Amino acid sequence: MPIHDEAKSRQIEAIAEEIKNCRKCSLSKIRTNPVPGEGNANASIVLIGEAPGYWEDRKGRPFVGAAGKVLDEALEKIGIKRTEIFITNVLKCRPPGNRDPRLEEIRACTPFLDRQLKIIKPQFIVTLGRHSTSYLFSKMNLNFDGISKVRGRIYEVRFADWKCYVMPTYHPAAALYNVNLKESLLSDLWRLKKEMELLRED
Ligand code: URA
Repeated sequence: MPIHDEAKSRQIEAIAEEIKNCRKCSLSKIRTNPVPGEGNANASIVLIGEAPGYWEDRKGRPFVGAAGKVLDEALEKIGIKRTEIFITNVLKCRPPGNRDPRLEEIRACTPFLDRQLKIIKPQFIVTLGRHSTSYLFSKMNLNFDGISKVRGRIYEVRFADWKCYVMPTYHPAAALYNVNLKESLLSDLWRLKKEMELLRED
C-alpha cells in the first residue's frame, strides 16, 4: 500500500465539491446527483467507467447498479476491496437514458478526471469500456480501434510527472448478459493483480 497522504484526500474532496457546483454542461440541469467518484485518494489503482447510470445518479456514487454488481463480484474474486481503490467516470453526471457521452460533455468534464488522476497518481489505471479507453488513449497519443483489440494489454505510460500502467478491459455493463465478456473482464483483472504483485517484488 502506498504511504497515506491526507493532503491527497483533501484535494480529492475539494474536486468533488467543485463537481457538485459544476454547471459546465447541460447534464448538470437534469442530474439528481453528480457522481464525482469515490474510494481511496492514495490508491494504486484507479478504475474509470463511462458515466453514471440511473442508480448512480440517484445515489451520487459510482457503480452501484447492475453493472456495479458485476464489478463488485470481479473485484471480490481477485481479492481487491473497493476501499483500497478509487472508482470514477469520464462524465460525472448521467446522460439522459444512458446515451453515449457527447464530445462537448467529455470536453467539459474531463478536466475533473485529469485532476483526480494527477492527485492520486495511481500505479495502474483500468479503463472500463470504450469511452474511458478512447479518452485515455487520446491522452497517450495512441490510436484506439476497438476495445476487443486492446483489452487485457498493459500500456506503460508517462504522463506529465508520473509513470503508470494503463489496462483497458470490458465495461461491466457489457459483461452483464455475456458470459464470455464476464470471463474476459475477470481474467484481465487477474492479470492486473499479478502484474502488481510482480512489480512489488522488484
Ligand atoms: N456505468 C458506468 O460507466 N459508470 C457507473 O458509475 C455506472 C455504470
